[in-house]
Amino acid sequence: MTYFLVVCASVFLPSWCWSFDESPIKVIVIDPGHGGEDTGAIGPSGLEEKDLTLAIAKRLARILKDRLDCRVLLTRSKDVYISLEERTAFANKNRADLFISIHANAARRKGARGVETYFLSFEASDDEARMVAAFENNMVGIDGRVSDGKIDDIKAILWDLVQTEAHHQSASLAESIHTSILRVTGGENRGVKQAPFIVLAGATMPSVLVEVGFITNPIEEKRLSRRSFQKKIAEAISDGVLRFERRLKERAGYVELREGR
Ligand SMILES: [Zn+2]
Repeated sequence: MTYFLVVCASVFLPSWCWSFDESPIKVIVIDPGHGGEDTGAIGPSGLEEKDLTLAIAKRLARILKDRLDCRVLLTRSKDVYISLEERTAFANKNRADLFISIHANAARRKGARGVETYFLSFEASDDEARMVAAFENNMVGIDGRVSDGKIDDIKAILWDLVQTEAHHQSASLAESIHTSILRVTGGENRGVKQAPFIVLAGATMPSVLVEVGFITNPIEEKRLSRRSFQKKIAEAISDGVLRFERRLKERAGYVELREGR
């Protein structure tokens, strides 16, 4: 015989009080990077980041709806331009519990490869992370120079946000998704990193940005263009979200007691 004891630790997580069969994650917003005139990075064979991110996001939405029985919303479901700020505002307006922004990486060096998962930070983990954020923030000019002006504008928001519980949860969500992607795809581990991404800056819920591979690497571009591989990535991200959900439940005191006879 099995007993379930549910302890709702309202002192620590006052808004996340649920019964044992209920998920603490009710709404997930998935953000397919770029769109419309903003193609994102383009691979040597012509694969555009905006198309790849939309394909993965749609598949991920279907999988998460099936596996978590929650509302899953996309910031865009077609090829349209949406500003970075609008994407986060959409997640806040819909009271999302998680925000997952999907991207593909770019590098001048054709051999660059692997998977990176980011969460928000005032300072970038390293120079490469700083460049990735600059690219995704649309701060890299056609001359290749980086303008940091936009980051100055959001300094105050970043400073407030990194103090919140949601931000601490972002680190855990990033680690969980990253581990799953590496396990399922066998991609090279470039690590969980931090950088000042505008698209994550205004989010009030745990939020991450996943760079699923290098579209500028001919081998990775070919792999990323395959539907079967896109499905693998979507399943891996979903695995990571489910593991994160279990951690949330454990933290809130969801305890399973087995009688042992
Ligand atoms: Zn991107």
